[in-house]
Amino acid sequence: MIHRFLQLLYPKCCFACDQVLIRSENWICTRCRFELPSPGLFLEQPNWISHKLDGLIEYDRVHAYFLFAEGGKVQHLLHQIKYKGQQQLGEYLGACVGRSFSPADYDVIIPMPLHPSRLKERGYNQAACIAKGMASESGIPFSESHLLRTKQVASLIGLNRAERYASLEEVFEVKSPEELDGKRIVLVDDTLTTGATFLAAGAKIKAASTGKLSFLALAALK
Ligand SMILES: [Zn+2]
Repeated sequence: MIHRFLQLLYPKCCFACDQVLIRSENWICTRCRFELPSPGLFLEQPNWISHKLDGLIEYDRVHAYFLFAEGGKVQHLLHQIKYKGQQQLGEYLGACVGRSFSPADYDVIIPMPLHPSRLKERGYNQAACIAKGMASESGIPFSESHLLRTKQVASLIGLNRAERYASLEEVFEVKSPEELDGKRIVLVDDTLTTGATFLAAGAKIKAASTGKLSFLALAALK
């Protein structure tokens, strides 16, 4: 009864299309669940995003959950997670991702870190929310202490991959790399556009440890 009353006062809306959700729906409406562009190439290797990393870094696998399109529903979802404080939505989508994995796949999930000043400003790291949801559902541990972002860079918008990579090269630092030796690591971020951030952070991990590296983005641009 109270639930119904609250729902009338503050209706819960779909985070992808803003339509009011019915009682049995959570986070995303049924229609959007069917319509969201999921690439459907989740575990296969190589896949539709491999070309962004192939030949540039030694890696094991790359995954993406959604196909990102400018102005689409996936962008709307990511915007909520990144800029509208919807940490729980990030965890929920991370959990959706996590259902496809088990500890047999990876030893540690590492979220793409934010610089401490950006973290203070935003209050949370959206990649860590996704990683946390993924960890809780898959049973794979996650660590925020092995990869740090020690340098803040200006916006990368408008730069090509080489320019992005150059400005990101000295941004990341690996802590206690010996703990990652021989581990199957999956580096998690909200979006993969050019792949420069994954390449820069991944290169640091590969240079510091003998860990086997994979990448996972909640959404990727084709
Ligand atoms: Zn919807």
